[in-house]
Amino acid sequence: MARLALVTGGMGGLGEAVCIKLAALGYRVITTYSPGNTKANEWLVAMDRQGYQFRAYPCDVADYESARECIRTIETEIGPVDVLVNNAGITRDMTFKKMEKTDWDAVMHTNLDSVFNMTKPVCDGMVERGWGRIINISSVNGQKGAFGQSNYAAAKAGMHGFTKALALEVARKGVTVNTISPGYIGTKMVMAIAQDVLDSKIIPQIPMGRLGKPEEVAGLVAYLAADEAAFVTGANIAINGGQHMS
Ligand code: NDP
Repeated sequence: MARLALVTGGMGGLGEAVCIKLAALGYRVITTYSPGNTKANEWLVAMDRQGYQFRAYPCDVADYESARECIRTIETEIGPVDVLVNNAGITRDMTFKKMEKTDWDAVMHTNLDSVFNMTKPVCDGMVERGWGRIINISSVNGQKGAFGQSNYAAAKAGMHGFTKALALEVARKGVTVNTISPGYIGTKMVMAIAQDVLDSKIIPQIPMGRLGKPEEVAGLVAYLAADEAAFVTGANIAINGGQHMS
């Protein structure tokens, strides 16, 4: 039976590319979407037209009970998750001076608590079966900080602390835990930034002089999910066009 991969936020710019890549490699791919997302069906139909039969489940990754229920349903209807890609995320950018507690909480709950919420119900099963992959999508801005992103940078840096600690705990059990830290990738999240800001502030920071492509990140996810990556754990792999070298 093909391995089962669960990609949170798989209907977003990066997540979609990850779903497509994993499906092309033969994984059974499931995604989650926010319970309020009214376009989920539309997305599934569009993917079906391209030849991808994905399953999708509503799940608020920021909410522990919602995540638990989602995993329970997936396990009952399809089977245990072999590869978990914690990809769902949001930004609420503003200077710290303007940031309200609600802006902090929303970003921490969606970007960091979600990693606990989704990993907790699948990790023990991976350990028992002796094989698993947990791949956390962080950000270059969690590595180097970014103006107006104290909430986002904190959450994204926290993801990698989680990665390193859990990687140690499951290292002998066939389960790897890794972080990917993309730089600026040309998805809706980034294309929402005003073009003049992209041209004057963001692209000039990238030695390659361009945004990354979602497919490039998807290729890295595919590598980490594969058997060949069995010796890679606790790593934070940068994919940022040379923007930040640590
Ligand atoms: P998108 O905004 O395109 O996608 C984000 C996805 O997260 C959406 O599918 C959304 O689902 C989902 N999501 C948000 N909140 C929740 C929630 N509470 N419960 C369930 N799902 C939720 O962003 P990208 O594809 O660009 O980003 C994907 C990941 O990559 C994020 O974690 C982001 O921080 C990270 N990243 C992106 C970079 C970039 O340049 N694009 C750079 C570095 C990191 P729905 O629409 O159903 O709400």
